[in-house]
Amino acid sequence: MKPLYRQVQPSVTMGLDQQARELAAAGRDVINLTAGQVDLPMPEAGKRAIEKALIEDRTGYVPATGSPKVKAAVRKRMGWDEGEVLISAGAKPLLNAAVACLCGPGDEVILPAPCYTSYPETVRLAGGKPILVLGEASRDFVVSGQALERCITGRAKAVLLNNPVNPTGAVYGPKALQQIIDVCLKHDLYLIVDEVYSAFVYEGAFVSAYAFPAVRDRLILVNSASKAYAMAGLRLGYAAAPASVAKAMGAYLSHALGCPCSTSEQAAMAAFTMDDSYGEQLKSIFRDRRDRLCRALSAIDGLIIKKNAGAFYLWLDVSSWDDDVSFCRKLLDREGVALTPGSAFCCPGYIRLAYTKDIYALLEAAARMKRFVERNYSNASGVSR
Ligand code: PMP
Ligand code: GLU
Repeated sequence: MKPLYRQVQPSVTMGLDQQARELAAAGRDVINLTAGQVDLPMPEAGKRAIEKALIEDRTGYVPATGSPKVKAAVRKRMGWDEGEVLISAGAKPLLNAAVACLCGPGDEVILPAPCYTSYPETVRLAGGKPILVLGEASRDFVVSGQALERCITGRAKAVLLNNPVNPTGAVYGPKALQQIIDVCLKHDLYLIVDEVYSAFVYEGAFVSAYAFPAVRDRLILVNSASKAYAMAGLRLGYAAAPASVAKAMGAYLSHALGCPCSTSEQAAMAAFTMDDSYGEQLKSIFRDRRDRLCRALSAIDGLIIKKNAGAFYLWLDVSSWDDDVSFCRKLLDREGVALTPGSAFCCPGYIRLAYTKDIYALLEAAARMKRFVERNYSNASGVSR
């Protein structure tokens, strides 16, 4: 087997974000809609909590899986009454710990696709084999229980689901979730659900996988403060897991991460104890952006626009014009708009637009995209000029 340094690919989303930032730093007029991170300020209460933690010299290590008071605040906020809670430096290490603890060399982890760019590498880092199950475009790529079941072999150990989904913005509702859970129960699989976008569901209430008691003893639920409280750089995530799995994840994290960041714990705890007004405001800003952006993009002849139900991504089919990587490269070169090709999410032919800039930048990006399509693609033939 090749050493890991010859196998692991860097994060495409983070790489593109870096590239767009470098172009902007070099003086190019770039609208960077690559990385999905909230561009608004974190809650004031969180800032005050960091100041206080520093004044009180809370800069030492905290317990490997988080401080008891922070765990208690997570439990209360999320309504988690069963299972162990773990805190770590964002959702990513918790996902890595979960996969590494559940899957041995050659074991399979099933990934409904398109999927978050880090998932296949997370599985490979653990020595496992990612098995992609591509959803159907006509169902917003939401994978059915039947499609999932067709991909299960004796080596499968877990399903790793993201809900709401990065990159499509689709939401697995209760029925779709139930199908996934039924398959996991039938085949004795663990279910890892990454709910980092749970605060961004635009119509109706979000239903967490935690609401299904039958799967609780094999459910690892991961979430974080990165998106919900605009704290991506502070690195604070949390998970609920059955005791035996939590114990192994805790041991893994004690070696890999040491412990969560002490001041970020305090910031997140302040955020967990706030009322819902911050979250409501964030959601309404993002809903408004989505609606206005979709209206502007619908002026592009030949582009089919479907509003995303969750997260803050638009998922657009460009396959009649170009391949996704080349579309994104040309759009950046010619119009200075940076988007992410669907290939980064195991789904060529599509592009992902993160509406994580203010509405003026988004409308300007839509205008440039319109001009780009008109200038570069003849609509009927899909031929690049
Ligand atoms: N899961 C998904 C689906 C994501 O899009 C991201 C991107 N931030 C993460 C996990 C990582 O979250 P965190 O910043 O909490 O590590
Ligand atoms: N999750 C964000 C994205 O998909 C941030 C980058 C990353 O963590 O990969 O763009």
